[in-house]
Amino acid sequence: MTMSDCLFCKIVAGGIPADTVRETEDFLAFRDINPQAPTHVLAIPKYHIASLNEAADARVLGELLLFARDVAKGEGLADDGYRVVLNTNAGAGQTVFHIHAHVLGGRPLRWPPG
Ligand code: AMP
Ligand code: ZN
Repeated sequence: MTMSDCLFCKIVAGGIPADTVRETEDFLAFRDINPQAPTHVLAIPKYHIASLNEAADARVLGELLLFARDVAKGEGLADDGYRVVLNTNAGAGQTVFHIHAHVLGGRPLRWPPG
């Protein structure tokens, strides 16, 4: 399902340009416009799910996680380490309500996150 008012659905549809780094039939990964680390890529399913709260399909979630892992490997982050983050709802910093996994790496990542 494509939501006409959703920024990431527009990127999937090609209406808004993105710096794509990986793509499959069901998933897309592109560089974050406001990177928080030397590598900061967003991995999304091509069909609209607002957030983890609305996610119901275990196959999609599992494949999204493996797709994010493949992005990290493709960016050369597998050995040094990386983080995959799903901000869920406003209190956690979610600003775009189309589920996305942040893939972050290329610098030391502190714990706990802010
Ligand atoms: P979140 O705050 O977890 O919802 O993440 C949304 C992310 O989307 C933020 O890190 C933004 O920098 C990023 N973002 C917003 N607009 C664009 C865009 N047009 N292209 C790429 N990344 C974007
Ligand atoms: Zn969407």
